[in-house]
Amino acid sequence: MARYTGPVCKQCRREGQKLFLKGTKCYTEKCPVERRQYPPGHLGPAAARRRKQSDYAVQLREKQKVKRMYGLHEKQFRNLFAYAAGRPGVTGENLIVALESRLDNVVFRLGLAANRRQARQLVRHRHVQVNGATVNIPSYRLAAGDEVALREGSRELDVVEASLGARSRPQLLDWLALDEKNRVGRVVRKPTRGEVPLAAQEQLIVELYSK
Ligand code: SF4
Repeated sequence: MARYTGPVCKQCRREGQKLFLKGTKCYTEKCPVERRQYPPGHLGPAAARRRKQSDYAVQLREKQKVKRMYGLHEKQFRNLFAYAAGRPGVTGENLIVALESRLDNVVFRLGLAANRRQARQLVRHRHVQVNGATVNIPSYRLAAGDEVALREGSRELDVVEASLGARSRPQLLDWLALDEKNRVGRVVRKPTRGEVPLAAQEQLIVELYSK
């Protein structure tokens, strides 16, 4: 499936907030969202001054924001929403937990990659193993107790070293564990919504898809 290969910072500026798509630059004052607080394009400054958005526009932007954060296409996102809606519990929370359970996201959350795009590439290039077997499917859904490790020859990759050594590296989340020396992580338990540091209102996405 074709992927977006354009400038990722434009996606943040379009959503009007940091989506943390790059890595270390996102945590510095060089972040374009901080320097130019209006959407990209020559109409950007005018759009920033425009009047209040409709409910539909607000819901759409929220969906686009979350979709872009996790690097998914519309069809993948819709399929995941259908899966979340079919599960017991609150659909919006199920959606966030399902997004967090993706293999590429867990590789990123463990700190083995600077961002989800890089994590996705590590998975696609067969550097990642789940429970001892190589898995090259970024959307692979992990469960509690699963072990995520880098293959023996991939443990010292430059991108891995740089990510683990970055000063701005986010703190490891409570539902994950990492043996940094051996590059082995584990999903300790399924996360709850409260344990996911994601500034999003998932109920707006549920409202959008329920129309
Ligand atoms: Fe988004 Fe990071 Fe670019 Fe800032 S530096 S606009 S947070 S991708």
